[in-house]
Amino acid sequence: MEGLLERTVSFAYDYKVMCRSCTGTSPLASSDYYQEINEAHIDCAHCGGDIHFGPAVFTLRDAEDPALDDRWLGSAAWYHTSTDGEWPNGTRTMPTEPDSPIARLLSPAGLQRARERYETQALHLGTYEAAIESMLRRMRNQADGGSQFYLYRVRLRDGLNVEAGWRDENHAEAAQITHRALGDVDAIRYLNVHESPGSISLAVRRGAIEATQRVALPLTAPGQSALAVRADVASLRARVEHMEIHRPATLDQVDQLRAETARRRGTAFTRSPSPEQYALLEKIDEVLEDACLPDASRPVKSAFTGALKAWRRAQHPDVDDAAYVQRFAALAATLQDPDATFRALSSQPIQELRPCQP
Ligand SMILES: [Zn+2]
Repeated sequence: MEGLLERTVSFAYDYKVMCRSCTGTSPLASSDYYQEINEAHIDCAHCGGDIHFGPAVFTLRDAEDPALDDRWLGSAAWYHTSTDGEWPNGTRTMPTEPDSPIARLLSPAGLQRARERYETQALHLGTYEAAIESMLRRMRNQADGGSQFYLYRVRLRDGLNVEAGWRDENHAEAAQITHRALGDVDAIRYLNVHESPGSISLAVRRGAIEATQRVALPLTAPGQSALAVRADVASLRARVEHMEIHRPATLDQVDQLRAETARRRGTAFTRSPSPEQYALLEKIDEVLEDACLPDASRPVKSAFTGALKAWRRAQHPDVDDAAYVQRFAALAATLQDPDATFRALSSQPIQELRPCQP
């Protein structure tokens, strides 16, 4: 798909937050956001009022975001991640067998409404960063830690009818919008406050998509940096295990209770790490993040590590540190070296979509 406009990818962005008193916007450093400085409060740069920061007050990072221009929007590459290798062609059906968890929760009428809503939702496209962060969130929060993900690059059809301006996901229907609610337009812009917060995402009809290219993630085996960091991780792990051997045999109160519960249930009991061991385990995360994601912000690093830990928990049988480091480094390359991903996408066949669907 030649000629699509690409933006410069960065996972090191800071945020903008809006003041409820004067509606002015103030910058918020990603590190301050991560540390929730001053119990998540900053002073408004305009009126000095108090801003309690979080997703509810995130606003556009770039007031001149090129996606606000319809022509640019239509000529740009848009991204989406999915566990569906046939997206957006796969039929989207909600599991509604009588014994499915959702069917047990809802009345038959409620189930029907939920199903219609689920199956007619608009498709979501975003920046490269938003698509990757959406995958990380699903890995962490939606039991997709072990799932195969695909990254799609999307070309939109010419001459789309795009809603003017942008919706704030906090206050207007956007993320859950259905095809019907799109009305006469093919696409709406909305402020994404969860993935790459402060960027513009799109909700589109399926028919707005002209073509896609797809790669499976992660792309490649890791390079030398992964080998170097593997030795650092191994040495930290050895220190944790050495401490374990020399720990006093007496369990603390919490672990006594946990051991008792495990005995009653007949499950395995693993002792909680001591504070000293815990500090070393955190150091393992830090060493990996600094080696594989040197340019990403603290919130992105943390989201990435959370996602990779979900991947590790989903592996059966358990994987060792070497396999974990390999996976960490391979997926981190998607964030650290987006140009390699762009090249891989460009080498893939172009899937043209038939224009007749809704
Ligand atoms: Zn203000």
